[in-house]
Amino acid sequence: MSADCIFCKIVDGSIPAKRIYEDDDVIAFHDINPSARVHFLIVPKLHIESLASCEAHDQALLGKMLLLAPKLAKEQGLAGFKTLINTGKDGGQLVFHIHVHVLGGGNVPLTV
Ligand code: 5GP
Ligand code: ZN
Repeated sequence: MSADCIFCKIVDGSIPAKRIYEDDDVIAFHDINPSARVHFLIVPKLHIESLASCEAHDQALLGKMLLLAPKLAKEQGLAGFKTLINTGKDGGQLVFHIHVHVLGGGNVPLTV
């Protein structure tokens, strides 16, 4: 938990979000400012800043997040989808708690 992190606050419930999935390690919720008809984020409960700060012991967690993408996309009615991980300020990352974007349902942008 990082005190000023908006996604940590969503994880602990102090900021509301439209959750679509939760288990011991991961939550998923709709993006507050969707860039496609369906746009949700897969987020680990553990505060990890970015893909660049992941280490070997995060391998299973990263795999879990990726494997959730097709499962949750199907539940959201998507036949296909785009996944995106912005890494670092230069990579377009705005929230420094790692997350996988999942976008689909038409008008899917190249970037978010
Ligand atoms: P990034 O640019 O860091 O990859 O993407 C951060 C994403 O988080 C953006 O798409 C933004 O709309 C979303 N976001 C930021 N704050 C909130 C929030 O409080 N709630 C939700 N649901 N999404 C948020
Ligand atoms: Zn955090």
